[in-house]
Amino acid sequence: MREENWRETAESVVIAFILAFLFRTFEAEAFVIPTGSMAPTLYGAHRDITCEQCGHRFAVGASTPPAHDSELRNGWIDHDRRMHSAVCPNAACQFANNVLDREIFAGDRILVNKFPYDHREPSRWDVVVFKCPETAKTNYIKRLVGLPGEEIQIRRGDVWYRRLDTDSPWQIARKPIEKQNQIQILVHDNDHPARALLQRGWPESWGGLPGTQWEEDAIRRSFRIDPTGEGRQRLQWLRYSHYLPRPQDWMASDGGPLPQQPQPQLIHDVYGYNMRITSDQAEASQRRREPLSLGFRELASNWVSDLSLSCELHPEGDEGEILLEIVEGQRRYRCRFNLGTGRGQLEHPSEMSPTGDESDLVLVGAPFESGLSVGRPHSVQFTNFDNRLVVLVDGSVKQSVDLDLTPEAPHPALSPDDLRDGLLDRSPVGIGSQGAALRVAQLRIHRDIYYTEDNAQGRADPLFRLVDSEDNSRDEFLMLGDNSPRSHDSRLWRDSHAVPRQLLIGKAFCIYWPHAMPFLNGGRGFPVSSYREQGDAKAATIPRFSLPFLPQLGRMKRIW
Ligand SMILES: [Zn+2]
Repeated sequence: MREENWRETAESVVIAFILAFLFRTFEAEAFVIPTGSMAPTLYGAHRDITCEQCGHRFAVGASTPPAHDSELRNGWIDHDRRMHSAVCPNAACQFANNVLDREIFAGDRILVNKFPYDHREPSRWDVVVFKCPETAKTNYIKRLVGLPGEEIQIRRGDVWYRRLDTDSPWQIARKPIEKQNQIQILVHDNDHPARALLQRGWPESWGGLPGTQWEEDAIRRSFRIDPTGEGRQRLQWLRYSHYLPRPQDWMASDGGPLPQQPQPQLIHDVYGYNMRITSDQAEASQRRREPLSLGFRELASNWVSDLSLSCELHPEGDEGEILLEIVEGQRRYRCRFNLGTGRGQLEHPSEMSPTGDESDLVLVGAPFESGLSVGRPHSVQFTNFDNRLVVLVDGSVKQSVDLDLTPEAPHPALSPDDLRDGLLDRSPVGIGSQGAALRVAQLRIHRDIYYTEDNAQGRADPLFRLVDSEDNSRDEFLMLGDNSPRSHDSRLWRDSHAVPRQLLIGKAFCIYWPHAMPFLNGGRGFPVSSYREQGDAKAATIPRFSLPFLPQLGRMKRIW
């Protein structure tokens, strides 16, 4: 049975008005997202946390009725299953925030356009609502990754496709940049440092390599270089290293030295949305006098090499060159900006160079106008997702080049079978100055979604074949959740992996009502009523509904 909830009622009234307005315009239907299988694009029931150490704001999934592992049971808190802590996903932080008394918010409410596919064919990457082919009753929402007449394979986190029953070469499915920017996942935000660890000697994730003239402004979280003397002649790197504090490092931050000198790690397919510790797990570790840590299921295991760097870049003189670098295995992809000419060029040092000579460069695509001007800050993004290099300056695409595996491709990609991680993949992002004076700030690193072939619930077939019928009646589509480790989708349905055309309901197009945000009392509002633990009056309660609240305008948005 559903809990009575004041806020739900209040929200529903507002929603009714919005819908009345919208239904006049669209053939739309409203849905509430129940689970986190599409997180972080769409939230199911969740908690909103601002990390008490680094200030990064993130959502972490909650389990509510009728889920078998629900935190609530018949209106009471289930002691063992209630969430104890949520681990901050910001790489340099990883602090386990206590969330025992945090409100559980309902999932995103979305609008679904019910008849878009009467007028046009579904496209890859659409977020689609459909009837689950296993039960044909439950509505599911996933991302469409495979179209009729395609054979689909998941390789190293990416979707590959080719025409069914042909020997045509496999092609990687690429996300358009505007979609990519909406669904990419934060790895590290340099503007949210875990100061308590830094004060104890934990290394900063970004820093000039030894012997370089990069200077750090630890308060403004920016870096500056103005090369002098012999420094004007050489390439000087500012680099990101993927340091990941462990629970024991946080425990040691109360006193005494850090347990050991940290080493940079590979970037893994971590989903902050899944990083929760139950009370049961927390009490077990407390009994063993061990620090709080994630259960085995939440530990990511796949190296993610598709990365994106975004920053504010402020050239201070019109001499020299700025390099942005993203490493992927044997490749060091670079974007080179010449401040004198105002032009940019994508390139990578040849990995075939027998001497490892940096000057042996392979140019990727044509030179382009960078749009960078001296004396003012620009927002710059350099990405390597799905074998596509893209450069954006102040929000507009300046260059985009696809790398392919076919022998005749102008820009050959590395085959996913040949990709090997190296030492540099632990420090995979850099900003270089070759005689250029500049300042950088707002450094952020994101990663691509990583589709796994299996998840906690089982292993999938490696190949998916999708029927394309003459009259479209038996056409099939392949659907995957953005939160791959926690999504029950095409990979795991037993009888047929595919969704037949007649089970498609529509295309999700906007979040019209994310949960309302309480304010005052540190952003948590004041609870009007609360859930309690049965038989334990002293246990922390979970707010059922808090006042006052505001609509969350920032998350009301189009779904990409
Ligand atoms: Zn944090």
